[in-house]
Amino acid sequence: MTDIQALLLSRIREVEDYPEPGVKFKDITPLLADPAAFGALTDALADIAVRTGATKIVGLEARGFILGAPAAVRAGIGFVPVRKAGKLPGATLSQAYDLEYGSAEIEVHAEDLAPEDRVLVVDDVLATGGTAEASVQLVRRAGAEVAGLAVLMELAFLRGRARLEPALAGAPLTAL
Ligand code: AMP
Repeated sequence: MTDIQALLLSRIREVEDYPEPGVKFKDITPLLADPAAFGALTDALADIAVRTGATKIVGLEARGFILGAPAAVRAGIGFVPVRKAGKLPGATLSQAYDLEYGSAEIEVHAEDLAPEDRVLVVDDVLATGGTAEASVQLVRRAGAEVAGLAVLMELAFLRGRARLEPALAGAPLTAL
């Protein structure tokens, strides 16, 4: 483990049985409150964006906004929010996906992504991969290319990486 990984890990709080029994919630608010850790994370995400040739970062509501936006500014590229359905005022593309119980829908402003864009998708936690998979599909449907997916943490036991492999089609998945 690198020094930066140790720093990031030390600033993630695990909350048992939140938001429901059996879930270990990874709370990143201690990391956000520490400028050294948040700065190191922002730099690491911006490096991935530059390395993958991304022209936009797409951040997933809500913690993907907090991590993705400063990384986009640092990398000198644009930020595009993917939001839960019904929050964006303009013309949107939407993508439905299955949850453990029920389904969800996410949206992006169609005009924010262009065919010449290469998109790095950013979120805090990769769990089952359902949210990231739907986001990658949304980016492609908007006509843009997927440069990669970057997350702070991957919960490997949920096998999101394997689920995402077909959708990512060779684009790199980085868990910091
Ligand atoms: P999934 O679609 O199952 O990969 O879930 C990913 C989304 O749910 C991300 O936006 C995460 O912020 C959130 N999430 C899932 N599991 C956790 C967890 N154990 N701790 C914190 N956030 C989680």
